[in-house]
Amino acid sequence: MTRTKTAVVIGGGIGGLTAAAALHQSGLRVTVLERAPSLRPIGAAISLSPNALRALDVIGLGEEIRDLAAWQGDGGLRTPGGRWLSRTSAEAAAARFGGPLVLLHRSTLVERLAALLPPDAVRTAADAMVADPGNRDRPATVRTPDGELEADLVVAADGIHSVARRALFPDHPGPVYSGFTTWRIVIPVPGAEFASHETWGRGRIWGTHPLGDGRVYAYAAAVTPAGGHAADEKAELLHRYGDWHHPVPAVLAAARPEDVLRHDVHHLAEPLPAYHRGRVALLGDAAHAMPPNLGQGGNQAIEDAIVLAHHSQDLAAYTAARLPRTTAIARRAVKVARLNLMGNRAGTAVRDAAILALSKAGPALFLRGFDGIADWRPPQPPYASRRTQVGERYER
Ligand SMILES: Cc1cc2nc3c(=O)[nH]c(=O)nc-3n(C[C@H](O)[C@H](O)[C@H](O)COP(=O)(O)OP(=O)(O)OC[C@H]3O[C@@H](n4cnc5c(N)ncnc54)[C@H](O)[C@@H]3O)c2cc1C
Repeated sequence: MTRTKTAVVIGGGIGGLTAAAALHQSGLRVTVLERAPSLRPIGAAISLSPNALRALDVIGLGEEIRDLAAWQGDGGLRTPGGRWLSRTSAEAAAARFGGPLVLLHRSTLVERLAALLPPDAVRTAADAMVADPGNRDRPATVRTPDGELEADLVVAADGIHSVARRALFPDHPGPVYSGFTTWRIVIPVPGAEFASHETWGRGRIWGTHPLGDGRVYAYAAAVTPAGGHAADEKAELLHRYGDWHHPVPAVLAAARPEDVLRHDVHHLAEPLPAYHRGRVALLGDAAHAMPPNLGQGGNQAIEDAIVLAHHSQDLAAYTAARLPRTTAIARRAVKVARLNLMGNRAGTAVRDAAILALSKAGPALFLRGFDGIADWRPPQPPYASRRTQVGERYER
């Protein structure tokens, strides 16, 4: 009788849970070790593009997420005074990429992913580290406060400050400050009618999007020194964005100081030499943390997870499939961050004029930004044959 192979996943974020679900469905016995006391994710909403939704189709979740999330694309890019630089629609986005871009609360995604796992698969309050990456003849070993676990495969999905990455690649310099901080808010804004927008100012951006569940997701980013915090982050936002176009003041009027999350942004400026060592594979932010300006960090973590399940017997093939793509996307995210957080008056005037001209001449910048990213397809078909033809029905 053949022995069931085992996988230990370190980190119960979006990447770790997607990997756990995919490995479970491909026949491995999976244990997820999450350091936090519960699987409640930090953060607000997350946008998922067609590439990640197709990856979620492989584990039977894509269709449910498309149905319950808000479709993105109706709206566009504006200046702080409210002028539209570029406009598009959710239908145009779906037509260009063969499926919609969607927005949903992170906790919804995490709940749905966790529901795909056997009840005893997740251990919380379990701080874990790689004790031995193993090799062809020896299993990998993971250390937890409760003892050691051996596994045929270890997935290091422990986020941007990954301890596993430090253990496996001690010469890698680790994350750097991306030069800006972010604020996020998820609240109801009663009576506020608005079109989705991202607004680019000088060294500052703001976005507002409906979440589809009666709440609004608003985010802001500003170039600041690292480590700053205001006693009242709502007052800080009012100071920086209070005179921007509608609905920004309406969102701020509806928010309480405790609704505002603030995080400095870091990324890995130097790519890792590989996404595996021995029997350990890194994925998501542990492997390639990138600035959030393309909205791809979580999407790429989901792609990684699905590709890893496909190559779980050959981690060199996993690195070969993922490292070039994620490195290119991370570099693009850095460039986009530079462009939309540009602080120089003359530079922003040229930028805005170029966006206006480009968008008159062809598809909106928002759509072009996803070319080569959103059209990605997973290497394997859905694991469960009972799933219907996913990816075929996108009418609303
Ligand atoms: C402001 C902002 C907005 C963003 N918006 C988007 C977006 O719209 N779309 C998108 O795709 N991406 C977005 N991202 C990026 C996205 O949040 C990350 O890329 C994504 O969360 C990475 O997932 P992950 O599973 O790799 O890591 P994480 O989500 O960081 O999860 C890591 C998990 O590992 C756990 N952990 C850490 N260390 C240990 C340990 N030693 N033992 C056990 N568990 C451990 C942590 O508690 C955590 O639960 C955004 C990021 C920011 C900062």
